Amino acid sequence: MVSSVCTRCHRREAFYLRESSGEALCRQCFIKSIEEKFIRNIRENDMIKYGDSIGVAVSGGKDSLVMLKLLVRNLRKPPLSYVRRILVFTVDEELEYTRHKLERVSYIREVCDRYGLEYKVYTVSSIIGVSAQEVYEKLKESGKNVNMCTICGVFRRRVMNEIARREGLSKIMTAHNLDDDAQTVLLNVFSNDIKRFKWFGPVTGEDVENFVPRIKPLRNIREEEIAVYAYVMDIPMLERECPYVKNNPRYTLKFLLAELERRNPNIKYMIVSFGDSLSSILKESRYFERKVRTGRCSICGMPTTGDICRTCELIRDAGLLDRYLLAKRS
Ligand SMILES: [Zn+2]
Ligand SMILES: [Zn+2]
Repeated sequence: MVSSVCTRCHRREAFYLRESSGEALCRQCFIKSIEEKFIRNIRENDMIKYGDSIGVAVSGGKDSLVMLKLLVRNLRKPPLSYVRRILVFTVDEELEYTRHKLERVSYIREVCDRYGLEYKVYTVSSIIGVSAQEVYEKLKESGKNVNMCTICGVFRRRVMNEIARREGLSKIMTAHNLDDDAQTVLLNVFSNDIKRFKWFGPVTGEDVENFVPRIKPLRNIREEEIAVYAYVMDIPMLERECPYVKNNPRYTLKFLLAELERRNPNIKYMIVSFGDSLSSILKESRYFERKVRTGRCSICGMPTTGDICRTCELIRDAGLLDRYLLAKRS
């Protein structure tokens, strides 16, 4: 907390010091600045085009609830004002610890009702026939040690794509923030995996067959500011930490980035910007077309760089492929 006058309006008392820009902001100016960042990010990166049907992935976690709030408060502004359809949806991962996120379902439904938005909840198993928990346990039984976060992430992405396909959505909006994308850059560097930059940026998967592009309007906002926005806007925050989080490589990076940020308040912006530049250079030089062979999964037909995709690989290794194929047919 800072006791000075807001550097934007020069009237009210400042309550948040934005170290990355040196601004001291009062509540109102802080709220306004977050909303401006959101809409500016959508406009500058051309995330939404006339006639788009947008799926908005709201898990019930803090970031996604803030995204929903920012969305409803900007519905009348272009380009949001000219989308054809907005479908807000929640993917229920059916894990014990994600149950509390589902307590948010009634809150999400209430917000959607108030603004006349469609809202649906899908379970992972109703879409792909198996749950992350089952696959995790079967893999463990057979001696394969796969991170729960990996399974969860792979399935969630597949389920989102499947929902978009069934509902005829042209894009999916997700709540990835600046911290998430800064971590992604470092992860790609640490695993020496330059190919992953194909999937990096404010809009991803635009020209990939069978894949519904993702747009990330929060990726220019620091996670801390999202939390502060949630607090001042009275957005319910009841987050329990995922029990698998300590095995997630992102967990360590969180602390590393916080440490680096103390010395350079712009470090996350710089890392993400570096990732964006690298990604565009690689795209312009047609690196991915030359180096990454993208074919179709021989089981499900989705784009993949191997013979079968990661989703099918996990389900096959767990011995549950028939249930997946059955769900796919229906
Ligand atoms: Zn102010
Ligand atoms: Zn597949």
